[in-house]
Amino acid sequence: MDDRTAIFGAREADGIVRCDACPVLCRIRPGRAGACHRYANRDGELIRTDPLVVLDRGSAVVPFLDTDWDGSALRSKSTFITAIGAGTTYPDYKPAPFIVGSQHAGVDTVTVVTEGIFSYCGLKVKLDTDRHLGPETAAVRVDGEQIGHVTTAEYGSQMLSLGGVRHLTGGSKREGTVTCRAMLTLCNRGAVEVTIDGGSRVVLQAGAAPIVNGAPEHRMRVGCGSAAVGIFAQQWLGHVDEVIVLDDHITGVLSEHQAGKCLGMPPAGIRVRGRRSTPGRYFQVAAPGTGWGGTDITDPLSVIESIDPTTAWPGLRLLLTSTTGEDALWVELDDALRPVPAPMPAAVRAVVDRIGENCEPALTSILFMAGAGGSLRAGVTGNPVLLTRQVRDSLVRVTMGGAPCMLWPGGGITLMVDVLRLPADAFGSVPTPALVAPIEFTMRRDVFAALGGHTDQIVPMEKVIADYGATARRADGAGNPWPDAP
Ligand code: SF4
Repeated sequence: MDDRTAIFGAREADGIVRCDACPVLCRIRPGRAGACHRYANRDGELIRTDPLVVLDRGSAVVPFLDTDWDGSALRSKSTFITAIGAGTTYPDYKPAPFIVGSQHAGVDTVTVVTEGIFSYCGLKVKLDTDRHLGPETAAVRVDGEQIGHVTTAEYGSQMLSLGGVRHLTGGSKREGTVTCRAMLTLCNRGAVEVTIDGGSRVVLQAGAAPIVNGAPEHRMRVGCGSAAVGIFAQQWLGHVDEVIVLDDHITGVLSEHQAGKCLGMPPAGIRVRGRRSTPGRYFQVAAPGTGWGGTDITDPLSVIESIDPTTAWPGLRLLLTSTTGEDALWVELDDALRPVPAPMPAAVRAVVDRIGENCEPALTSILFMAGAGGSLRAGVTGNPVLLTRQVRDSLVRVTMGGAPCMLWPGGGITLMVDVLRLPADAFGSVPTPALVAPIEFTMRRDVFAALGGHTDQIVPMEKVIADYGATARRADGAGNPWPDAP
């Protein structure tokens, strides 16, 4: 904790302090905390209840395992002041809480550090599963409130778009509160269960396997059915007469597919359901679902529309598999050309296992996305558009808690960051409702001066360490590029 009354707040009668770190303007009595619990009144002084987090390149700890103080002093050349716990100056014309001057490789640099308050922010969630979670655009809900929607699926992954200004501030107060709480939990690596209209119940947690209707997902599919046929065709050759790889996107049929043709496989006469896209590649063989290959199929033989008696033959060996290899069935045609399940030969089992081996672990990935193009720029400079331009020209590096951000092209400073690359508990919220996220702008000192930065507010790194080092929380930025490296 540190006393920030010099920067924030105002003392009132009876020891009350008014926090002005956000528009709520809490009047906090001694010994109490404000509405967001991020600020408190200690003996008439406004304090930030969480410690400032610094990255310490010198500490030998695993990546972002937050450490207890080990007694060693921070060194200015290997310390980066993150915005986590730094506080916010509001209204925005005040300079940012920390404007830190330091040297890197002989170059004078400045890092402007603030906890941004973002009502324009959201989460892009990638779930490595081909199971059908819900129709595209379907509402995603927590406690009955819509907090987002299903968006365009990606290769092997389902995607959700959560939060955003419409759910935070454009609906009912409860919708905003529930959305904000869910986003905060997810950003700080917690788990949230969502329900999807017309779809599934899913537990989301960054870095963990998605849990769909109570079942943890294990494998991300190796590819679509056509890709699986292409990858494994040669390994099946000689052991099978036909393979059907069931997939909600493209179901592959080996002998008809170009892969089978190139290997000289004869047609097997087995026609699958759905719309034939190109030879051996079928769309819409079934409805989306949580069955085989992201379809609603639980009986794989139901995908067979017909067996041509002029082409197929008794004893024909057919493998049906999903794109993860988790579901697989071996059948042989009897004298009446009916598929009859039989024990799977070891050589075929080995290839099915190889499909599983080539699946990556199913994970949930969460990117926080926000626009920093608004008023928080005034904490850096009195002429904010210059900051925007210098960010776009790569003269100013933007990090969040020391983690690298992806910058969107076009206007503003619209960022995305992987929440797992920030130290733990990096995010907060205020009841407006909005999320609070750390943001740091690092640049050469002459660039800072040229864009009209608040140069009179630069504090040397040594002084920040002297003032806050003893109470700061250390995190190791290993795994991320060092934030002020050239
Ligand atoms: S909600 Fe938090 S940041 Fe906002 S005024 Fe109250 S204590 Fe300060």
